[in-house]
Amino acid sequence: MAESDSVQRIPGYCALCTSSCGCISVVEAGRLIAVEPDPSHPTGKALCGKGRAAPELVHHEERLLHPLRRVSPKGDPDPQWERISWDEALDSTAEALTRLAASDGPESVAFGITTPSGTGLQDAYPWVERLRFAFGSPNAPFGTEICNFHRDDVYAFTFGVSTPVPEFAAADCIILWGHNPSTTWLAYASRVAEAKARGAKLIVIDPRRAGLANKADSWLRVRAGSDGALALGLANILIEEERYDAAFVRDWTNGPFLVRDDGTMLSGRDVVADAGEALRVAWDSEAAKPVLYNPESGTYDGPSSALALSGRYEIVGTDGTTISCRPAFELYAESCREFTPERVAEITWIPADEVRAAARLIAEAGAVACYSWSGVGQHSNASQTSRAIALLYALTGSFDAPGGNVLFETIPTASISGSQLLSPEQKAKAVGLADRPLGPEQSGWITTDDLYRAILEGTPYPIKGMVSFGTNILVSHADTSRGLAALKALDFAVHIDMFMTPSAALADIVLPVNTPWEREGLCTNFKVGADATSYAQLRPPVIESRGESKSDIWIVFELAKRLGLQEQFWDGDIDASYREILAPSGLSLEELRQKPGGIRVPLETRYRKYAGHDGAAPGFATPSRKVEIFSEKLQAVGQAPLPDYVEPAIGPYSRPDLAKDFPLVLTSAKSLHYCHSQHRGLPSLRKREPDPLIEMHPDAAATRRIADGDWIRLATPDGAMRARAKLRDTLDPRVVSATHGWWQACTSLGLPGYDATSPDGANVNGAIGNRESDPISGSVAHRSYLCEVSRIDAP
Ligand code: SF4
Repeated sequence: MAESDSVQRIPGYCALCTSSCGCISVVEAGRLIAVEPDPSHPTGKALCGKGRAAPELVHHEERLLHPLRRVSPKGDPDPQWERISWDEALDSTAEALTRLAASDGPESVAFGITTPSGTGLQDAYPWVERLRFAFGSPNAPFGTEICNFHRDDVYAFTFGVSTPVPEFAAADCIILWGHNPSTTWLAYASRVAEAKARGAKLIVIDPRRAGLANKADSWLRVRAGSDGALALGLANILIEEERYDAAFVRDWTNGPFLVRDDGTMLSGRDVVADAGEALRVAWDSEAAKPVLYNPESGTYDGPSSALALSGRYEIVGTDGTTISCRPAFELYAESCREFTPERVAEITWIPADEVRAAARLIAEAGAVACYSWSGVGQHSNASQTSRAIALLYALTGSFDAPGGNVLFETIPTASISGSQLLSPEQKAKAVGLADRPLGPEQSGWITTDDLYRAILEGTPYPIKGMVSFGTNILVSHADTSRGLAALKALDFAVHIDMFMTPSAALADIVLPVNTPWEREGLCTNFKVGADATSYAQLRPPVIESRGESKSDIWIVFELAKRLGLQEQFWDGDIDASYREILAPSGLSLEELRQKPGGIRVPLETRYRKYAGHDGAAPGFATPSRKVEIFSEKLQAVGQAPLPDYVEPAIGPYSRPDLAKDFPLVLTSAKSLHYCHSQHRGLPSLRKREPDPLIEMHPDAAATRRIADGDWIRLATPDGAMRARAKLRDTLDPRVVSATHGWWQACTSLGLPGYDATSPDGANVNGAIGNRESDPISGSVAHRSYLCEVSRIDAP
């Protein structure tokens, strides 16, 4: 059937998750009627069900369409929302925030920021952060500690940068570690599938056989939270069999630097009287003498082709004493040596032969690309696990090499997030920063544990107000009951969202945000390869905003105006802020508006930039300018300088006392059909997964008289939830896996919602405590806990 003349097909990209898949929006008579892939776009080969269901999201009857004010006190079962005008809502919000800033300081207001898979907030991150900075708040519960902090910031402890984009198109071996892109990053999944089809090897490390694990050459069914032991064990095999890139390790890591027996790095001053404290020392095996390294220039003061990576050296210090020391790499190799395949098998529950086979795949590959995500990050030992993975990757020598993880050139843009607007004194007030000086708190991204403590206990000072840009904190973070008490205790909260989520329902004022299809969005880095990182697109709105809903950016500008921050916000001119971002790119806003399908900017891909091109100083953006096998930065804050394996805090080996009553390892995973805690109200998606699920092995089910489809109760030492049992014989019988995010009903299908704050609901995060956390990042064990399950008779 021919499409009617009134049908418009408008290019853009889906902003429902970080994949940013290129798409064509089909609009008829002012309604979005379909969203289709745009194969001409670098990320547009395919769209997932969530993207295709966008018309149901956009036109959903339960969308928030008007500003609302609560009439009943918080906690009253009927909040009695009263519709108010935008002016009233914004004036009251600004008045409340100004009052709190005056009485308790701007730090008493936290700015909640949702994930890119929340309300499409990725369109507005820099503006929201700018509002926080200009207001003066150092506190933003962002959730990075349970999302990307390990892949990005912890990775930077080793390489100086966030994990670069894998060059899937040229990789010989791809490692997906705790990352299932079929569910969370379709553009990555498509590229991996293409690479696999052309012959690349694929290793998937995941407790569940899901997505691309079904196509993998090696699927390693790791016990949730024991990934660090696996990384050290794989490294051990590569080192023992001498199948690592020794030249890269010698030339580009701090592996040759000598470490004293007291565990500290030998300094140049220790061995040469007038040498600087910052200089480091390696051992020249040919000359049999120490050689100094200058981190400023990134060079040794002598030949470096024979630097020792192993052995013990006795060096006479400037004070005449003999200093015994060993290369950092030798210490790393020694700690890996403890993790034989058999020991790894005991810890991780992966058979030793499978560990050996995976190491062989890595060793035999020319170029290795590796990507990890929340399967690695949501554990109490996440940071050291990420370090162990990063060092394993360093052994391959594939960093920034063709087919490895490549720092592709990106379109130059200006940052407008305005961190300079926040004074150093205010930055230093981020709650939790004193406990985790290298954690997300450096950027003001605080944990919910610290947020709740500040609200409920006033420690280290009271947080009394909250501005939440979509963050559904009660469902997406642990310790829901404490979160509930905290949100109820706030003096004032404003929440910006598309739907009345459980967290929004505790606000004083709720503001309706529109969907990505009703507003512009700028993307200048699509992140799946050179063809994508050179692509810029200003996604146009394809329909009018429904009701009175507005974009996050509009809301930011209007609040800024009322808070007296007009000057910091381009005097209210949103286009001026886009122009500032684009200024270094050479692209104009008008040009991008004229070409909604996007513009490709010619950029050259250069590899191994650490070697120094065009006169640039060689090295990495680390303190030593080397890949830091030994991290003095971590050591300075009392953390292990070499990757350390520590059992998950709530696990069968660390807490045998709890394991007596809670013998199963609980992990969780995102659903293929929903983004985080969204989309259960969309009928086409809810039909595919109508009920909350807990996956378990048939043997584990049989011993508990549970059949496939039975409703079961899951209990942990900290809470409980309910869901339907789904039997999967690919799971380890000692493991169960739940999906998080359940609260929303699907009215049109008559399918229920669930009370996210009740143990009779279906919110797995309500059963996770956040007392035990990663000492570096503050991550919580969402994916490695202990539990027991039992059959119940009714849902
Ligand atoms: S993976 Fe799905 S939800 Fe995410 S951007 Fe692509 S189409 Fe949208």
